[in-house]
Parts: sequence; C-alpha cells; structure tokens
Amino acid sequence: MKTLLSIFRLQCPCCHKGEFLESPPRPLFKIIRVLEQCTHCPTRFKIEPSFYYGSMYVAYALGVALMLGVTLLYWVLSDSFSVGAAFLLISGILLIVSPYLNAWSKLIWANFFFHYQPDLKKKTD
Ligand SMILES: [Zn+2]
Repeated sequence: MKTLLSIFRLQCPCCHKGEFLESPPRPLFKIIRVLEQCTHCPTRFKIEPSFYYGSMYVAYALGVALMLGVTLLYWVLSDSFSVGAAFLLISGILLIVSPYLNAWSKLIWANFFFHYQPDLKKKTD
C-alpha cells in the first residue's frame, strides 16, 4: 500500500520521500525526465543506459486498462453505445492523462528493480 502511494505521489521507490522526476507531469507534449539521483537518499535512478525504455510495456498496460475501463463505464452509463463516441472519449482522456501515465509507468518500472528501504540514510553532499 505504501508503495502504491509513493507511485501515485511520484516519489523515490527506495526512501518514499525524495523526488523521482525532474519536474511534475504537465498536460501536452512535455517529456517526462527521471532525475539522476534521489533528492533525499543516495539512490541513483539510472542504473544503465535506456533503462526506462521498459516502462513502455507498463504504459501500454496502463493505457489498455484505462481504455477498457472507460469503454465499460461508457457502455454501462449511456443509453446508446457508439464506437465512434467511445473512441473520441478515450482519445480525449488519453490526451489529458498521458503525462501521468508516462510518469507512473516509469515509477512502476523502477519499483520492479528498486525496493523500499525504510532505514536508508539521508544523502550527504
Ligand atoms: Zn530516495
């Protein structure tokens, strides 16, 4: 549960306190960049070149889950289901939430490899 909360808050997967991204996700066409190192603990987020390419699989899964959820909700709540309207609805929602999906997918991917260490020392510069 604590890990899910840290993913939602975009915090470091190791200490759950420091920042994970260079800047918070904003709508429309801004690239989501991961910091080199946590702002709170000594964890380095980039363990090898192109490490976060794998997060595309997570983003795909999140996108499909969102698409299925929106389609199901639209189908249940509307009187007349239209595939075109569902497509436009999903496209609009994806356009708005895609920066968050991208950021969350990178954090979920990072949580496969970095684990929570509650007694991690604060970094010293
Ligand atoms: Zn940290």
